[in-house]
Amino acid sequence: MTVDIDWVNEDFAFDHVGIAVNSIEEGLPFYQALGLKNIQYETVESEKVRVAMLTLANSAKIELLESSDSSGPIARYIEKRGTGIHHICLRVKDIDSTLENLKSKGIRLLNEIPKKGAHNCLVAFVHPKSAGGVLVELSEPQEG
Ligand code: ZN
Repeated sequence: MTVDIDWVNEDFAFDHVGIAVNSIEEGLPFYQALGLKNIQYETVESEKVRVAMLTLANSAKIELLESSDSSGPIARYIEKRGTGIHHICLRVKDIDSTLENLKSKGIRLLNEIPKKGAHNCLVAFVHPKSAGGVLVELSEPQEG
């Protein structure tokens, strides 16, 4: 299939889907059975989360999220809703102007100021109430 370039949203890319798991040890075997390897591990202290990232051929990623602390946001999420899809992440060119734009349109943001996320990205979350029930992470990769 060829993609007509006029239809492509040049400034946005699908970056990853975040999946809340009780533990990476419990969540990973399915993806390993599928044949995925080259797992990148990272801990994001500010989010009290351990991350296992699986990068796919189109550079989109699957992010398994394990709470590193029973008070962390992922632990609280699993308590309420169980394991499963937690958020989607869209990569943007300029996160500050993206957030300004959303704010001006009355979109509720969970982070008005971007913070440091996994893989040295600047990230901010949009409130699910403003995004059809989906927790949307916006991410701008930083150099270095
Ligand atoms: Zn994420």
